[in-house]
Amino acid sequence: MRTSIAVEHGTNLKPFNTFGLPCVAQSLVRITSDADIRRVLDDPKLGREPKFILGGGSNLVLTQDLQACVLKIEVKGHRLVETRDDAWIVEVGAGESWHDTVQWCLDHDLPGLENMALIPGTVGAAPVQNIGAYGVELKDRFESLDAVDLITGRGVTLTGPQCHFDYRDSVFKQHLAGKSVITRVRLRLPRPWQPMLGYLELERKVAETGITAPDARQIFEWICSVRRAKLPDPAVIGNSGSFFKNPVVTAEQCRDIISRDPEVVHYPMPDGSFKLAAGWMIDACGWKGKSIGQAGVYEKQALVLVNRGGANGAEVVTLARAIQESVYGRFGIRLEPEPVVV
Ligand SMILES: Cc1cc2nc3c(=O)[nH]c(=O)nc-3n(C[C@H](O)[C@H](O)[C@H](O)COP(=O)(O)OP(=O)(O)OC[C@H]3O[C@@H](n4cnc5c(N)ncnc54)[C@H](O)[C@@H]3O)c2cc1C
Repeated sequence: MRTSIAVEHGTNLKPFNTFGLPCVAQSLVRITSDADIRRVLDDPKLGREPKFILGGGSNLVLTQDLQACVLKIEVKGHRLVETRDDAWIVEVGAGESWHDTVQWCLDHDLPGLENMALIPGTVGAAPVQNIGAYGVELKDRFESLDAVDLITGRGVTLTGPQCHFDYRDSVFKQHLAGKSVITRVRLRLPRPWQPMLGYLELERKVAETGITAPDARQIFEWICSVRRAKLPDPAVIGNSGSFFKNPVVTAEQCRDIISRDPEVVHYPMPDGSFKLAAGWMIDACGWKGKSIGQAGVYEKQALVLVNRGGANGAEVVTLARAIQESVYGRFGIRLEPEPVVV
């Protein structure tokens, strides 16, 4: 265990965010334990600086230098902590990569996360926006988490209801935003395992391959291949995945939009509301492939904004606002960004 804090000054965060946006951090400390956080809080200088919590930087738009102490979360470790009749409970350090965790679980015969394979970023950030893909969300596999309060330095354990999970949202994007560092997450993997195949691309894989009863490893492979074909690899083209949330509207609003735009892609939700495909709306407004400065709309998927090389955060925000205005003008819907704009 460390006794003193190693502080890096003036670090450029460009390599630490998947959009590849330039941003200099006043100071940066790598956090490998709860005790590291308390050391930062007790430090006479760092303790007074504003704090910014950084995971893998895959859901961020950095628009300015950070006059803050960046806490780069690097808490490690995977372990199976409990085997119940109805679930396995796996505890993971917040700094572990999410995708490596999906793989670790499969390697240890602990299926259940495979639909969320290849989502970039860290395990600690997964509850922040309740990550999800292909019919499964973090909240469906969540047991509890440990966090440290950035004012008091006290540790707390939160259960699912206390996290207020919602569509790409949680208490960590609301009143606990930036105030509480998640250090460990416990995942609940239901037993017996059930495949989650109710998603168009997965149904297509079943039909193409004739594999009607795929195991978790097979679903993992399918998800990886679907995602690789659809989304730009941040190592090649800077991006932060889906840039806007899919808007949820009432049945009446949906009918109104369909009456004007019969093609609009929409999905019924269990509560009677409808989710509209933001990517379809952006494409319908003619944005696919367009750019403002070096920030652009991905050619293969209009929901993804990309860095065409050398973009800065201001260009990304200008492009995002222009798209929001177009979509509002045509559909009367205000798109909400998914990444955190800093
Ligand atoms: C190509 C691509 C595809 C993507 N696909 C999906 C997808 O399918 N589904 C999906 O839901 N998301 C997707 N995303 C978004 C992103 O991967 C997730 O939001 C991910 O959870 C972000 O993790 P991170 O560690 O990079 O967080 P960061 O970007 O570092 O941080 C995001 C926010 O969480 C906060 N935060 C980070 N770590 C902690 C912590 N330990 N404690 C408290 N707060 C913290 C940060 O302060 C910030 O506000 C995609 C992104 C990319 C680039």
